Amino acid sequence: MSEVQQQIQLKPLQQGVADSGRINLLGLDRAGLEAFFAAIGEKKFRATQVMKWVHQLGVVDFQEMNNLSKGLRNQLAESSCVQNLQVAQDLLSKDGTRKWLLRLHDGNHIEAVYIPEDDRGTLCVSSQVGCALDCSFCSTGRQGFNRNLTTAEIISQVWLAAHLLEEEKKPGRKITNVVMMGMGEPLLNFDNVVSAVRIMMDDFAYGLSKRRVTVSTAGVVPAMDRLADILDMRLAVSLHASNDELRNELVPVNKKYPLKELMAACRRFIDKQNSRSRITFEYVLLDGINDQPEHARELIKLLKGIPTLMNLIPFNPFQGSGYNTSSKNAVLRFSEILHKAGMTTVVRKTRGEDIDAACGQLAGKIEDKSRRHRRFAKPRFGMEK
Ligand code: SAH
Repeated sequence: MSEVQQQIQLKPLQQGVADSGRINLLGLDRAGLEAFFAAIGEKKFRATQVMKWVHQLGVVDFQEMNNLSKGLRNQLAESSCVQNLQVAQDLLSKDGTRKWLLRLHDGNHIEAVYIPEDDRGTLCVSSQVGCALDCSFCSTGRQGFNRNLTTAEIISQVWLAAHLLEEEKKPGRKITNVVMMGMGEPLLNFDNVVSAVRIMMDDFAYGLSKRRVTVSTAGVVPAMDRLADILDMRLAVSLHASNDELRNELVPVNKKYPLKELMAACRRFIDKQNSRSRITFEYVLLDGINDQPEHARELIKLLKGIPTLMNLIPFNPFQGSGYNTSSKNAVLRFSEILHKAGMTTVVRKTRGEDIDAACGQLAGKIEDKSRRHRRFAKPRFGMEK
């Protein structure tokens, strides 16, 4: 381990008991918990009580929940559990970014990252073990896909981060925002992600407002429509290219849902949400590939009429990616063209590089059921420089 990174030593957290057949209450949103209590003949308000204990107070042992009767506590202990993921590795970057490698019960691993800034603390959460979408510049995609995370596995990332940050006892180390920008495509794990977002926003759990929870998608169009119908939150769209030819190469799901359909879905999304909302577009700048002035001009045309926050992201390299990071000048030139056209544009700062926590570097340790890594043993598109 280098000097700049530090393995955090913390007392072991109560992890809950692994046990098959018991319901993990960590993964039930309000409606789910209410149904659970109704099924055992209890009143609805038990859902609120248990949510507070579990998510706000971090209590996982039913015997400590002293506003529940002894009988109910015993009944819960028999039929259910509050079970978190295991922390396999806990790394702190010199810039304050903290990354957790989390072990799932099946032996796979996922990652979650906490990114502190002056005015906020953002938790980047994973939604799947690996990813099936195979974006050419993303290291998660290179790992292949194994499975969807359960709601409990998604929420456990928030639970662990919230309570581990609290143990640091340092001011300002709080989760104020959650972005579903870790490993996986959230909209291909739709139901579990929706339940998890509901728990994040519940006043008796994490109480995050709809502006502070962002679901990021590579553009799964039908799921974008479904999402807009049932949930109010921020949407980020991973665009990365200004025309179909380039996007087919960088974000292959574009072959299924090309830009015309994606842009139409973005417009429908905005129409269904309140008038002040806008869409965040993510655009990873790849040297000589998508970072030229003509691409910026094409983007302006493409996004005309869509309330946009453009997030330009310098490419974070990983071994064998075959891409290079755009020069500072190219990034500046690109952002200036967008800015002059009146587009709100920010360049994302790279954080947590020393602990491999930067965007696109989350690899976890997964068993690749698609065996993708074999197909990609060689550099792609002949772009290795
Ligand atoms: N599947 C979803 C969620 C994953 S987040 C989606 O595509 O939106 C994916 C984001 O990670 C991308 O939009 C991009 O912002 C970032 N990313 C992926 N690989 C990257 C890399 N090598 N360098 C910088 N950012 C990267």
